[in-house]
Amino acid sequence: MSERNLAKPDQKFINYMEHFGGESFKKCFQCATCTAVCSLSNSENSFPRKQMLLAQWGMKKELLEDPGPWLCFYCGDCSKRCPRQADPGESMMAARRYLTSQYDWTGISRLMYRSVYWEAGVLAAVAAAVVLMFTMPHDFGFGLLSRSGSAPLSTVMLQMFAPVGIVDVGDRIMAAGLGLLLISNAARMFVGLTSGESIPLRYYFSQLPQFVIQGLTQKRWNECASGDAKLNWIRHLLLVSGYAIMFTLVVVFLPWFQVNNTSVQWTSTLGYYATAVLLTATAWIIVDRMKQRTEMHKFSHFSDWLFPILLLLAALTGILLHIFRVMDLPMPTYVMYMIHMAIVVPMLVVEVPFGKWGHLLYRPLAIYVASVKSKAHNESAAQPVGSGRAVASA
Ligand code: SF4
Ligand code: SF4
Repeated sequence: MSERNLAKPDQKFINYMEHFGGESFKKCFQCATCTAVCSLSNSENSFPRKQMLLAQWGMKKELLEDPGPWLCFYCGDCSKRCPRQADPGESMMAARRYLTSQYDWTGISRLMYRSVYWEAGVLAAVAAAVVLMFTMPHDFGFGLLSRSGSAPLSTVMLQMFAPVGIVDVGDRIMAAGLGLLLISNAARMFVGLTSGESIPLRYYFSQLPQFVIQGLTQKRWNECASGDAKLNWIRHLLLVSGYAIMFTLVVVFLPWFQVNNTSVQWTSTLGYYATAVLLTATAWIIVDRMKQRTEMHKFSHFSDWLFPILLLLAALTGILLHIFRVMDLPMPTYVMYMIHMAIVVPMLVVEVPFGKWGHLLYRPLAIYVASVKSKAHNESAAQPVGSGRAVASA
């Protein structure tokens, strides 16, 4: 850390961090109790004291190059023990929100994280576009007012209200667009995390399983010594399984999932599981936030509310849609389909590339890069002096 960097805290950045929920970090007096009690922190990747310092001094570049904020699973042990009530657990969460906004090159995430009006406005705009699509008169053969033939009102014909062919193509275009946006953000994150290092490619290959395992299981969460960690990990795992199954059903298996009227397909069983899990886990999270049961839920940024609420609404409208369809109630089915889409589409379009959902990719990526660096540095340190080092600073 150069003297020039330490000369003057970046007040603009410090004020900026407040929008992301980080304000208490200003109280930190660097005693390091938090790092000592954190069971996930180690000498190679130390946190959260280091990040408190980076935030206090407005060291944005160093924060972008640090995987630390993503290695924290917000058990809250550090916040309980902090003698200054600087809430390091929540500060790490605020750092993750800030970093998410920095990875996004479009700038939409920055606007959304800093203002509830922007986030609600963007969600509402996408929802309005979906409703308009189904209610505007047009010739494309779907919706309530299609001039080329509307769905009958005598029996449910979802295929006429929302033909699988059209919805399927729309789904795939949306998934590809979201995937590209998210990958481009992750690429920016990767560049930041590996900046200034020259690590041989073999380490990136050898540590790839870490990326896959952590991405699928978030296993590191379970390594946290905190009492609540295991329960939170299981809940998160269930939530992700429900979310992933629902996403796959809609994007890959739509012709089998979206059926016409009273029939129930094999996909329905998976849909029941996903709905039950989404409903239970999101309701549980919302109640925990309302009651502020654990450290992790004591402070809630507006983005922490919006995501579980949207998931809960998506599950509830999905259940109603299924009931109306099986009961063969045409108009309630069509209207509920439209409402369901007006919740699900904005949730995906807004939250995947610009919001909270991105952590499902960012966190395993940070763990992976940390693991690559650690492996390369350890092997480099073990080599005899003069034999050629594995890692070089660019
Ligand atoms: S956050 Fe609290 S425990 Fe951690 S270094 Fe600062 S004052 Fe100490
Ligand atoms: S919240 Fe838990 S995992 Fe995160 S820094 Fe604090 S003690 Fe470590």
